[in-house]
Amino acid sequence: AASAASPLLANLNDEQLAAVTLPAGHALILAGAGSGKTRVLTTRIAWLLQNGYATPGGILAVTFTNKAAKEMVARLSAMLPVNVRGMWIGTFHGLCNRLLRAHHKAAGLPQAFQILDTQDQLSAIKRLCKQHNVDDERFPPKQLAYFIANCKEEGMRPGDVPTHDSDSRKKVEIYQLYEEQCQREGVVDFGELMLRSYELLRDNDPIREHYQRRFQHILVDEFQDTNKLQYAWLKQLAGNDVGGRYEARGSVIAVGDDDQSIYAFRGARVGNMTDFVREFDVQRQIKLEQNYRSYSNILDSANALISHNSRRLGKNLRTTQGAGEPVRVYEASSDLAEAQWMLDEIKQLVRNDGFERKEIAVLYRSNAQSRVIESALFNASVPYRVYGGLRFFERAEIKHALAYLRLLENPHDDTSFTRVVNFPPRGIGARSIEVLQDAARAAGCSLHDAVSAVPGKAGANLGAFVAMVDVLREQTQGLNLRGIIEQMLESTGLVEHFRTEKEGADRIENLQELVNAAESFVTQEGFGRDAVALPLDEHGTPLTQSAVSQGIDPHAPLLDEPLKPAVPGIVDADTGETLSPLAAFLTHAALEAGDNQAQAGQDAVQLMTVHASKGLEFDCVFIGGMEEGLFPHDNSSSDRDGLEEERRLMYVAITRARKRLYLSHSQTRMLHGQTRYNAKSRFFDELPEGALKWITPKQQGFGSFMPGSAPYSGAGGAYGASARGQFGFKSETFASPPVPPQKAAPSHGLRAGIAVFHTKFGEGKVLAIEGTGDDARAQVNFPRHGTKWLALSVAKLTVVE
Ligand code: ATP
Ligand code: MG
Repeated sequence: AASAASPLLANLNDEQLAAVTLPAGHALILAGAGSGKTRVLTTRIAWLLQNGYATPGGILAVTFTNKAAKEMVARLSAMLPVNVRGMWIGTFHGLCNRLLRAHHKAAGLPQAFQILDTQDQLSAIKRLCKQHNVDDERFPPKQLAYFIANCKEEGMRPGDVPTHDSDSRKKVEIYQLYEEQCQREGVVDFGELMLRSYELLRDNDPIREHYQRRFQHILVDEFQDTNKLQYAWLKQLAGNDVGGRYEARGSVIAVGDDDQSIYAFRGARVGNMTDFVREFDVQRQIKLEQNYRSYSNILDSANALISHNSRRLGKNLRTTQGAGEPVRVYEASSDLAEAQWMLDEIKQLVRNDGFERKEIAVLYRSNAQSRVIESALFNASVPYRVYGGLRFFERAEIKHALAYLRLLENPHDDTSFTRVVNFPPRGIGARSIEVLQDAARAAGCSLHDAVSAVPGKAGANLGAFVAMVDVLREQTQGLNLRGIIEQMLESTGLVEHFRTEKEGADRIENLQELVNAAESFVTQEGFGRDAVALPLDEHGTPLTQSAVSQGIDPHAPLLDEPLKPAVPGIVDADTGETLSPLAAFLTHAALEAGDNQAQAGQDAVQLMTVHASKGLEFDCVFIGGMEEGLFPHDNSSSDRDGLEEERRLMYVAITRARKRLYLSHSQTRMLHGQTRYNAKSRFFDELPEGALKWITPKQQGFGSFMPGSAPYSGAGGAYGASARGQFGFKSETFASPPVPPQKAAPSHGLRAGIAVFHTKFGEGKVLAIEGTGDDARAQVNFPRHGTKWLALSVAKLTVVE
C-alpha cells in the first residue's frame, strides 16, 4: 500500500520497504549478497529528502570504493532533482580529506596538503631510513610501512605504542621520525587522513558538535569491513560518550554482510557489527533474504561454498529467478591457455549472446594474474579496462608529472623533489642527493632550501633544477589547469625525454591523457564557469543561494562551506578560501587513482581483483586461477581464519554474477618468474555438483589413455570425485628462464605413451614432453590426481616396466 503512494518505493519487497522507511533511530541491516542492501540505502536517502525528513546537508553516507560512491550519487540524482554536491557521500578517505581541508588549521595542516599513496609512503620511509642509517635488513621498509599503518589503524601515535625490546623501540622511533618528516613536508598518508580527522573531531568540541548536529542521518554501506578507527570516527560524528553511556544525536544505519568481510588483513573487524548493536542500543535489525541479482545455479554455488565457514551470523538467501545456465568450469593446461579460453568465451558472449563488454568481468585473486589476460585481450583487439593494479595515476610517467605539479604547489615536498630532481636526467647523481639530504638534515630544512649548501658542480646542477621549478611556478601563475600541465610537460623536458625513449610513445600518450583527466576533472568538479549546481524546488526552479545555504545548514552557517564555488570539501571552513584547481586536482589524483583510464567510457571488458569487485555486479563473471596456493592463497590457507577469509572472498566473487559464471584453473602458471604446478582449488569440492558443468579441454585426447572413461566431461563425474582429498599438495616450483624453442628431443629416457611412477601421485601415463635438459618437462596423466606438468629436473619420475 505504501509503495503505491510513491514511485520511489515501488518494487521494494516488504523488508526493504520497512528498511527504507524506518523511523529515526539506529538500525542494522544484515543481509547476504545481492539482496538490495545498497539499493535500500540509496532509496532511503531519496525518501528522507523527498519527504522533508532531511536536508541534503544533513546526510552523511559512507561507501567502500569511489566507484560505489559515484554510483550512489548517480542513482540519487536519477531519483530526485537534488544538489548532490551538498551531500557528504563518499569513501572514508574521501570524507576525511574533505573534513581536513575544511578544518586544516585546527588539524595542523596546510590547506594544500598532499596525499601520499602507498608507493610514495614507501619511498618516504626508505629515504628516512637511509638518512638515519637504519639497517634495512633488520627493519625492511615495507615492514615499517605496515607497522606504521597498523599503529594508525589502531589509533596509536608513537607515544601510545607499547615497547618491550630494543627492536620495538627502534620501530617507534622511526614512526616518530616519519611523522615529523610528513609534517615538515606537508604530506599525509592514507592512515593519517583517517587518524588525523578522528583526532580533529575528538579534540575539538565545537567542530565535533557542529557535525553531530548537522549529520542527522549517517548511513554506512559495507559495514562489515570497517576497522577499529573507522568505527571510532563514525562514533565521533554520531554522538558522545557521556560517563560510560553513549548518546547519539542522529540516526545511524549500518548495512553489511558478515560473509563478505574480506579486509581483515587491513584491520577490518566484523566485531564492529555486534559492538554497534550494543553501544548504540540498536533496537531495529532487518534481514533481507531475497536475492535479486543471480540465477539459482550461481546463488546455490555461493550458498554451498559459504556454508563451509564456521563462524557466521547466519542468513538465508533465496531467489525467484530460475536456475539459469550451469556454472562452467574449465581446466586449462597453462595460464596462456586459460586466457585464450576466456577470450574465446568472451567473444562468443558478445557476438552470439548479445552481452555488452562492460557487463563481462574477469576477476582474479592476485594482480599479477592480469598480465596474461590483458595481453590475450589486447592481441585480439578486445577493449578492456583494468581496475586496480598499475592504475593510471600510478604509472611511472604520470607519477613523475604529478611530482612536478606537487613541487609547483609546495617546493618543500621532499618526496616529489627526490623523485624528479634527476628525471629527466640532468647529471645529478645519487651521491649528490645524499650530500643534499645530509645538508638538509643538518640545517633542519627542506631539500629545496638546502641546495645552496651543496658545493661544486653538483650544487650548480641542483641550483639549476630548483631555479627551473621556481621559474615554472612563476610562469604558470594565472594559467588554468590545462595550461599549467602543458607548460610543465614542456619546461621540465618530460615529453622531450620520452620522445627519445624506445617505448616512449605510450608514455607520451599517457601524459596527454593526464591533460584530458585534468580537463574532465575541471568540468566534473565544478571549476568551470558553470560551477554552481543549484538544487531545484519541486517545480524545477533553481533555489536561491540563501535558501540553499539555509537548507543545508540551519544551525551553524559559520562552520559550513559556503556554496560558491561548489567544489566539495575544498573550502576552508574559517575563511572560505578554496584550494587552487591544481591542488584539488592533485588530491583527486591521489584519492581516485584508477578511476581515470584511457579507455573510460568505452564499452570494455572489466578486469579487477576480487577485492576491488565488492559491491559491483555484472551479467557475466569469470574467476580465473582457481588453484591451491593462489585461491585460496598461500599466505592465508594455512590457518583457519585465513582460509575462512579466502572463502568469503570466493563468496564475494561468485555473487558478482547475474547470469553467467565461469570458473577456471590451470595446470601450470607463470607467476613471479616461476612456473608453478598447482592442484585445483579445494573450493571446487565445496560447490554443488548439480550446478556445475565441466568443460572438456580442447587438446590432445586424454581418452585414449583411459579407455571407457571420460574424466573431464559431464557434471562433475569422475573428475570431481578423483580430485578430492588433495588439499595438502604442495606445489613444486622451479625457475624457468625463457628458452628458445627447440625440437623436443627425447630426454630422461621418457617419451609420450609410457607409464611412469611418481612418489606422490602414483602411477601415470606420459602424455607429452617439452624442452630439453634442465628445462624438460612432462605432461603426465595420473588416474587419481588428474593431469599435471612436471619439471623433470625436480620431479622424481621412474619408468614403470
Ligand atoms: P552486495 O552485498 O553485493 O553489495 P547488495 O545487497 O548491496 O549486494 P544491491 O546491489 O543493492 O545488493 O542489489 C542487487 C541487485 O538487485 C541490483 O541490481 C538491484 O537493483 C536489484 N534489486 C534490489 N532490490 C530489488 C527489488 N526489490 N526489485 C528488483 N530489483 C531489485
Ligand atoms: Mg551493496
